[in-house]
Amino acid sequence: MQRKILEKLCCPFDKHDLKISVFNEDENQDIYEGLLTCSECERYYPIVYSIPIMTPDEYRERQLELPNLQRWGLMIDEQSNSFVLDERSKTKLIN
Ligand SMILES: [Zn+2]
Repeated sequence: MQRKILEKLCCPFDKHDLKISVFNEDENQDIYEGLLTCSECERYYPIVYSIPIMTPDEYRERQLELPNLQRWGLMIDEQSNSFVLDERSKTKLIN
């Protein structure tokens, strides 16, 4: 999915802007793998096979998303039930 389309998306929970972290894109800047993070609620939304996964929390499966996050060098807080990265992963996204 193109960056300029992703930039138009907002958090489905609170409608705030999302930050884009790109892990894999092609020469046309089509983002194939990445992560959208909300500046307000700090939820993350993975981009997998060029598709942003932005379903409500109750329809998301943490265990299904975990392998991709680990592959990207990110982790979720095991203690938390929300879709928020742990502190160490957050610092990895800010470069
Ligand atoms: Zn949000």
